[in-house]
Amino acid sequence: MKLVFATNNGHKLEEARGILGPAVEVAALSETGCRDDIPETAGTLEGNSLMKAEYVYSRYGADCFADDTGLEVEALGGAPGVYSARYAGEPSDAAANRRKLLGALQGAADRRARFRTVVTLIQGGRVRQVEGIVSGTIATEERGDGGFGYDCLFIPDGYTQTFAQLGADVKNRISHRARAMQALARLLGQ
Ligand code: IMP
Repeated sequence: MKLVFATNNGHKLEEARGILGPAVEVAALSETGCRDDIPETAGTLEGNSLMKAEYVYSRYGADCFADDTGLEVEALGGAPGVYSARYAGEPSDAAANRRKLLGALQGAADRRARFRTVVTLIQGGRVRQVEGIVSGTIATEERGDGGFGYDCLFIPDGYTQTFAQLGADVKNRISHRARAMQALARLLGQ
């Protein structure tokens, strides 16, 4: 089975290939000839993930899947959510996003949050969605230098260290994206 993953991010492609296994050939977006910056203008993770998958399916006729991820903070009503990449404005600035988040949660007792990834699969025109969630809390200061984005602020439930401190092995086992890819694997019968 061959599926286009609507991304050119090498890490995401590698992770998807690892979890989906050898029976699924995962092609990068660039392999379809698509060089476009696919629009992500929906107001939800479900909407953006669907938009990206539909873009690829409608233009290239290829069975495909697309992901979209957000950090949903309880005390902020689920923000930054779908706007996680540009929480502090555009162009996207991860350090500014983290500063804004720490400011928004200053003094907050409830620091619960979750990363959520929504994956949309389109196969033969049939659209299905799955999600992966990792719950945790937002630290009161940045901890650790590994990872990217909000990793140095996110402490997954069951751990005392942030994703940035825990490192790739732990993160790749329990992350939102890994869980979404595992759900996709189940959908595909892998
Ligand atoms: P994307 O949908 O994978 O591009 O993720 C959108 C945004 O969510 C990123 O720009 C990051 O700010 C944040 N994000 C997604 N996944 C992670 C993660 O694993 N760690 C930290 N931040 C993440």
